[in-house]
Amino acid sequence: MSHENLQRAEAAQRSALITTHSYDVSLDVRQAADPSVDGYTSRTIINFSAAEPGHSTFLDFIAGDVHSIFLNGKGLAVADVVDGSRIRLDNLQAENQVTVTGTALYSRSGEGMHRFVDPADGQCYLYTQYEPADARRVFANFEQPDLKAEFTFHVMAPSGWEVASNGVEAARSQLTSDPDTSRWDFATTRHMSTYITTVLAGPYFKAQDHWSATLDDGTPLDVPLALYCRASMAESFDAAELFRLTKAGLEFFNRLFDFPYPWGKYDQAFVPEYNLGAMENPGLVTFTESYVFTSRATDSQYQARANTLMHEMAHMWFGDLVTMQWWDDLWLKESFADYMGTLGVDSATDWDTAWVNFANKRKAWAYVQDQLPTTHPIVADIPDLEAAKQNFDGITYAKGASVLKQLVAYVGFEAFIAGSRQYFRDHAYGNTTLEDLLKALSAASGRDLAGWAASWLQTSGISTLSVEAGADDGAAGAVTIVQDAVDPVTGRVELRPHRLRVGSYNFDADGALVRTGSIETDVSGERTDVPGLAGQPRPALLLVNDDDLTYAKVRLDPASETTVLASLDRIADPMARALCWTALWNSARDGETPATRYVDAVTAFGPSETGIGVLLNILDNAQAAVERYIPAAGRNAARRDFLAAADQHLQLADPGSDHQVAWARTLAAVSRHDATFLPRLRGLLDGTVVVDGLAVDAELRWNIWHALAANGQAAPDELDAELERDTTASGRAGHATALAARPDREVKAAAWKAAVEGTELSNELLSATIAGFTTAPPALLEPYVEPYFGCLRGVWDNRSIEIASRIVRGLYPLAQDLPAGTVPERHPVMLRTDAWLEANADAPRALRRIILEQRSHLLRALTAQLRS
Ligand SMILES: [Zn+2]
Repeated sequence: MSHENLQRAEAAQRSALITTHSYDVSLDVRQAADPSVDGYTSRTIINFSAAEPGHSTFLDFIAGDVHSIFLNGKGLAVADVVDGSRIRLDNLQAENQVTVTGTALYSRSGEGMHRFVDPADGQCYLYTQYEPADARRVFANFEQPDLKAEFTFHVMAPSGWEVASNGVEAARSQLTSDPDTSRWDFATTRHMSTYITTVLAGPYFKAQDHWSATLDDGTPLDVPLALYCRASMAESFDAAELFRLTKAGLEFFNRLFDFPYPWGKYDQAFVPEYNLGAMENPGLVTFTESYVFTSRATDSQYQARANTLMHEMAHMWFGDLVTMQWWDDLWLKESFADYMGTLGVDSATDWDTAWVNFANKRKAWAYVQDQLPTTHPIVADIPDLEAAKQNFDGITYAKGASVLKQLVAYVGFEAFIAGSRQYFRDHAYGNTTLEDLLKALSAASGRDLAGWAASWLQTSGISTLSVEAGADDGAAGAVTIVQDAVDPVTGRVELRPHRLRVGSYNFDADGALVRTGSIETDVSGERTDVPGLAGQPRPALLLVNDDDLTYAKVRLDPASETTVLASLDRIADPMARALCWTALWNSARDGETPATRYVDAVTAFGPSETGIGVLLNILDNAQAAVERYIPAAGRNAARRDFLAAADQHLQLADPGSDHQVAWARTLAAVSRHDATFLPRLRGLLDGTVVVDGLAVDAELRWNIWHALAANGQAAPDELDAELERDTTASGRAGHATALAARPDREVKAAAWKAAVEGTELSNELLSATIAGFTTAPPALLEPYVEPYFGCLRGVWDNRSIEIASRIVRGLYPLAQDLPAGTVPERHPVMLRTDAWLEANADAPRALRRIILEQRSHLLRALTAQLRS
């Protein structure tokens, strides 16, 4: 495992010395379907130059075996130059060619070349996933984003397969010696980074279309389109809808960026056991196949998929065409794509709630992350690859995008786009840093952005904005916004400039709470008087950050909170409602108000929340509040009330509506910890209970089995019978979860062993097993607290970072009750966590980061329990 964690300084040294020109990569996966074959032949030929001949550099290759290395025609002794994941190249010439042949290994962790066998039909599928640095698990290369090159891929695979890569297929030929095998040759790409190269191979279902347009300047564009998914999912694959969105997106971004789509074709593949939402490989984007909806999906799931589709498409320009120099600026491409993903859905599709969902869900992720002790400035210090891997987080994506939204409010949309266009033109196929973007935006807007960047990008934490009104009976003194902002990392006060709106809401004649006034203003210091509100009658609801322009936690003033708690469902505007939900949730999370108050608001106003994305989000929050924030003494009653409400609203919801699905899923999920409604849920399974319009499909059935199993009401043979009904990959995961959820000491011991000690489980089955294991009463999990802390270092050292992260995060003993008379910091799990942190000061930073974050989540929950 030595050297896998490439340092920024080494990367900088390497790119100062060498310039890469081209890669020619041949992969032979013809035996992939044979489970006894664990690797494949990989050969790379790289042409590169060296600024200082005679010097040395190194290649990255995490291989099963390296067979041969030729540098400038001379064979090198493998044993002498291979050191762990590196291959040393000495005595470089001005122009060099290196050829490396080896055996690379198939992956089960989603890193590198992932191999998946479909349980439904036994077919074998391959895809690759590299970011930040796993191309080196597939072929030898210089693995860093600023060593771009042209790539030519060749793949040997079974003749009946579909094979795709970044470039179009240039040639395909059957081997005369072996007609069952064919060779695919792909067109050479433009200059790009290693982490966005890709290969897809398997008996995938493929749909084709194309998009053509003439740009404003007369440039004709014709982009071939393809979509892939596993053959066994083809029936559920709504390719026509995906093509429609794809064309709308291409139309939108080509015009917006004023730079023709740079990568020729545009393929999108939906692949199994994927570690993230999607990846922006130029010309061949890969997505999680959970976006192929095999069970009933809500409108918000469709919208989330469209958002991801637009996000990846925006990356074709921002990230792929122009790429960060090093992972410090990972945020730059992710924030931009996240902002553009939402803008694309808002502008190029029929959905009009994209920014509402952004406010309610995406920002909530950032707010949570930004209050952890491990938060960091948006512009982060990323000294090495492990740090990069840990930074695919709520700060990099959602806070960054929120801050870009604030930047758009600050400089104006036109200037923002003009600056972006210039940036693409100036840096096409190159690498940049933040400075380059700021320069382009400053030039376009005529504003110096240095101060803005320092306030927003180089500090951590979140401003809290609250309202002070001169008097509480209406027509009196000034209305003041008070900003409170302490950087959780440095402890310094960091007051930021906010461009925001303050909305006044009052009841109209029909009893609806509508906006009667809106003032746009700049808030900068600790106290800012809102112009135009002094002396005015106090509105029923005063909403700071109306329209969600800035990134801040907003506290409602007492009068406004009273209005919201009595009349949230009367607020006509979906964005204003979403912002009020967020304010209530933050207040509960912070222990400012009892968690029960939030749950009560959800049961009272959830049924009339028209936005399905918002409803699903607040139902999730309410579940978390019940299970973790409400103290043990009141939890059973709160849970039962919540269940009764879920059951009632399930009956009352419109047949076949998304709301019906949301309440059904909630009823099943909350029933994992309470048996009251299990007879009804079992009735749904066996058809003796029918809820008009509700599809009891595979996803809901497994949710119900999970609840039954967790309450000791599902026998293994019943779960096996369900698996026979549903032999899909998601069925297999649902089965693993339900099996591990059974409240039995031996079951828990076996699940623990499989997850922590075994290496058989793939990434997805590992998470499924952990989900089942952790669904349990505290007494059953108490014996695992000590083994958990005991296994951490070993797990981190011996498993891949993806698998290790899932184990460390997933098995932390997070569900704890605060015993009476105990302060949160003295809870036994808190003490044990602190002892581990103290004894393991030398543990890898990324591992300590996960433990610190879980500790913080636990402390917050225990503190909230004190409040309620
Ligand atoms: Zn992205």
